Amino acid sequence: MAPLFGDGAIAACGNRSQFVCNWATEDGQALCKSCRLDSVIPNLSFQGNPERWRKIEQAKRRVIYDLIRLGLPVEPRGASDGLGLTFHFLSADLTAAPVMTGHDSGLVTLDIAEADDDVREQRRTLMHEPYRTLVGHFRHELAHYYFERLVLHSSDIQACRFIFGDERADYQEALQRHYQNGAPPDWQQHFISAYASSHPYEDWAETFAHFVHIVATMDTALDLGFGGKISEQVADPYDTEDFDALIKAFVPISEKVNEINRSMGQPDMYPFVLSDEVKGKLHFIHMIVAKNARAITQQDHNAAA
Ligand SMILES: [Zn+2]
Ligand SMILES: [Zn+2]
Repeated sequence: MAPLFGDGAIAACGNRSQFVCNWATEDGQALCKSCRLDSVIPNLSFQGNPERWRKIEQAKRRVIYDLIRLGLPVEPRGASDGLGLTFHFLSADLTAAPVMTGHDSGLVTLDIAEADDDVREQRRTLMHEPYRTLVGHFRHELAHYYFERLVLHSSDIQACRFIFGDERADYQEALQRHYQNGAPPDWQQHFISAYASSHPYEDWAETFAHFVHIVATMDTALDLGFGGKISEQVADPYDTEDFDALIKAFVPISEKVNEINRSMGQPDMYPFVLSDEVKGKLHFIHMIVAKNARAITQQDHNAAA
């Protein structure tokens, strides 16, 4: 929180006037760090789109905040390199074909109908998913981005293939098989979600998204004093080296919040089970994130020196 006027005033993001963003800008930029990543926004003259956009940006800021706290690279795709990120928020009425939410080399596309609770809930039921949110979409699609950016061309790719499987397996064929036959009966022992069992690429994305769900939830829980004994070992969930303590502290908190939700007749906050194999996968992602965050910090440090 910072004042917009008077002593210590900050400059508000240009999208504040649209009631879409409450972040500040820096270095004379018109838009904040999150809004600068957009290259296609919804058509605001279309009824309902300003509200859809507001919900989408709110979820996106939450996730951009996670990435910043994790120390991962978050920069807009520049004209010269294809490394950065960019977002397209599309609606089916403007495109000839249905909009596919997905990721392609740093471009994250979101069907803005996902901001409508009724549409998203219908799709969640149709796909037999226990959880479908805007925040979840962003964490999943960005996971694909960080796989390409941090793992695919690094020496970690061998270990990654050993743990998640070979992502070079035919993707279309795998998805078709998944939608035809469903997940294997014992998927819960090996995967965080049924969808994760469809292809190694999706297993990485689902598991990475869960890693972010866990650190973000733990950060809020600790901030609210929900900690308990084990969480004393986790000062900053985004930056902890102690993966085991993080998971040990998260599980009882998630179980308690699930119970609280049930007493209100709400669905579980965390409707997932972390098997030992899934914990192993989460641990690998924790290692990849920590390693890259350290490398980036080191680069910044060297640049400043
Ligand atoms: Zn903004
Ligand atoms: Zn995916």
